[in-house]
Amino acid sequence: MIRENVKRLLEELPQGVHLEGAAKTRTPEEVLEAIEAGLEIIGQNYVQEAVKAFEVVGDRAKWHMIGHLQRNKAKKAVAIFDMIETVDSMKLARELNKCCGKIGKTMEILIEINSGEESQKAGVRPGDALSLVKEIRELENIRIMGLMTMGPFAGDPEESRPYFQKTRVIYEEMKQINLPGVKMEILSMGMSNSYKVAIEEGANLVRIGTDLFGERTYNELMNDAL
Ligand SMILES: *Cc1c(COP(=O)(O)O)cnc(C)c1O
Repeated sequence: MIRENVKRLLEELPQGVHLEGAAKTRTPEEVLEAIEAGLEIIGQNYVQEAVKAFEVVGDRAKWHMIGHLQRNKAKKAVAIFDMIETVDSMKLARELNKCCGKIGKTMEILIEINSGEESQKAGVRPGDALSLVKEIRELENIRIMGLMTMGPFAGDPEESRPYFQKTRVIYEEMKQINLPGVKMEILSMGMSNSYKVAIEEGANLVRIGTDLFGERTYNELMNDAL
């Protein structure tokens, strides 16, 4: 099934829109099956899970961190990931910069936008995004490549549209400002139920779990302890 799903999604996505397999709770074997079917980007929410999958899969795919990253996991994270999509504070960016410096790596990152301005959610508030970008761009081992957002969880994908629009506006504004050293090339928005709406609103990276790997069989919250 995974193989068919990857092929169908790759065919369905418009040109210029990249598919990322959101692989939380999936086994390394499932991840490998997706890669063999043509998936090129794996999204992981948990460093621990990524470490396990990386041992099997290695650099046959690009690895993106899409979960909240704790600073004490930054060292392990920079060793594996090609991109951290969830940078939302200067503290985290500084830690990543430091860890990258030690291994001579430049880390590509996205700034996570808390587009719903929800108090419990990760991400920088829209109004604070530009000043964060200005600060982070000074870090020598970090390269800002674009923006990512989740938006509030919604059953109806249309309810996500305003949050995707809001993030797109910030993305376009930053493109306009064109700060030296800052690229605005990647807009990561949309999951299984919302990726079509996200693409309509300008997403060029969609993070798909359920539609690609099937229903998750156990509660992902169980993994939060990792
Ligand atoms: C789980 C997850 C997804 C994919 O969710 P599905 O609904 O299974 O497609 C996308 N982005 C993030 C950050 C996730 O944690």
